[in-house]
Amino acid sequence: MAVIIDKALCTGCALCARECPNQAIMMKDKKAVILENCSSCGICTRVCSKGAAMKMADINEGAVKCTSCPVQCEVPAGFVGACQRYRNEGGQLIRNRQLVTDTAPGGPLITAVGAGTNYPCCKPAPYIVQDTVDGVEMVTVVTEAPLSYSGVKVKIDTNLHIGEEGAKVKRNGKVVGMVDMEEYGSKMLTIGGANLLTGKDGFIVARTVVEIANSERVTLKVDDNVLELQVGFPPIINGVEDRKMRVGCGSATIGMFAARLKEAADEVIILDYHIVGLLSEHMAGEAVGLNWSGVTPNARRSTRGRYFGEHGHGWGGTDIEDPKDAIKSIDMSLAKAGMTILVTETTGRMAALFEIQNDGSVKEIPMTTEAQDAVDTIRDTSENARVSALYVGGTGGSARAGVAVNPARVTQAVHDGDAVLTIGGAKTFVLPGGGINFMVDVEKVVPKAFTWVPTPATVAPVEYTMPLDKYQKIGGHIDAIKKRSEIINQPE
Ligand code: SF4
Ligand code: SF4
Repeated sequence: MAVIIDKALCTGCALCARECPNQAIMMKDKKAVILENCSSCGICTRVCSKGAAMKMADINEGAVKCTSCPVQCEVPAGFVGACQRYRNEGGQLIRNRQLVTDTAPGGPLITAVGAGTNYPCCKPAPYIVQDTVDGVEMVTVVTEAPLSYSGVKVKIDTNLHIGEEGAKVKRNGKVVGMVDMEEYGSKMLTIGGANLLTGKDGFIVARTVVEIANSERVTLKVDDNVLELQVGFPPIINGVEDRKMRVGCGSATIGMFAARLKEAADEVIILDYHIVGLLSEHMAGEAVGLNWSGVTPNARRSTRGRYFGEHGHGWGGTDIEDPKDAIKSIDMSLAKAGMTILVTETTGRMAALFEIQNDGSVKEIPMTTEAQDAVDTIRDTSENARVSALYVGGTGGSARAGVAVNPARVTQAVHDGDAVLTIGGAKTFVLPGGGINFMVDVEKVVPKAFTWVPTPATVAPVEYTMPLDKYQKIGGHIDAIKKRSEIINQPE
């Protein structure tokens, strides 16, 4: 065994077994035991605080050392390395996923999915292919690049409370990211980043980024909130699958539907974690002929008819769990007994109608047809709740050196629009300024295209496409170019 366990030091905590990417450790009699599929990636030796897992100098018989990344796994015969990309078949390491060559018109000539990595980066990229497109000689350069500056931005379209901006996001008790700036109805998470990837829990960070980017379900925690997230599906927050997301805050809802709401009740409170709206006081209420009713909602006043809501697990993502509590006070010098107050949310998911009594208290009454119609209108204009994600990364000098000898020229070509960067066949948004920092919608990328290596870094399929003359101009590896037809017709 190239990795061994010192049983005297092993306390049976099983941390190594949880972190092993190959499931190559079993626990027996409260001691770790290394199995035959261990690829000597060294993760267990790095996570074991007792020093019980040790890497030995000898290499197992039949194992092949992989040189496609600095980890240098010793891949046993018939098994894969830590990144799950390379398999030892009869003493040869092969990329165990076929190169994906199908691409959309206007995209790269081939994708980098299945291409593998040439390491160290002074070598040309694994595939540099040429073909004629609309009479122009084009080149696509591809590599599966390990990116240590990488992560995912997760967009959760939900009205449910997930935690405050800046809060830590954890997985199995380890910090993997943070709650980012809320973007209108959407809650944002940033998972990954260079600091966390290089931190002591970098392996779980890399795994989490890749699982989200590959549209797998992950369970995360923000404070006491449990988030079950899968790209393309509604989020499940604290066991509740959210279905609808608001199109606007409480003030916007009043603005959009004032005329309709005026018919629904004498006063309307729209509960929302950002802005709670009060119809009669709002400028939209005035525009449809209303004067302030004397009702004050239970929220902090901002401006006319607009109040700041508090985050919570109640109606509209506020801390109000009983709709009656949405009414803070009623000025009976303005209000009259018999007046009605409709309380609902910005998604119209829940609603309640109240009637003002002689003593200024309120009593819940059945919803009228007009009130229900108004609530249905709000609900029907809501959007679907869902999870989306952008993979974000920076392709550093090493990832660019496989494209051309001078990586800065690759950067310039991308910023000048001479070269187009795609990830797994999908268009990217390249951030302005220096370097090549990009974002890509993971749902547009070839499925299951992302992997990770235990440096740790995530691995993205990176493609640069440009006319042949531009490729020559930036000092590309011209001698390494192959015709696309040769690649496509290559035997598996
Ligand atoms: S060296 Fe890597 S593959 Fe082998 S047991 Fe440890 S973590 Fe698993
Ligand atoms: S993790 Fe690195 S060394 Fe191990 S198999 Fe993958 S590319 Fe090779």
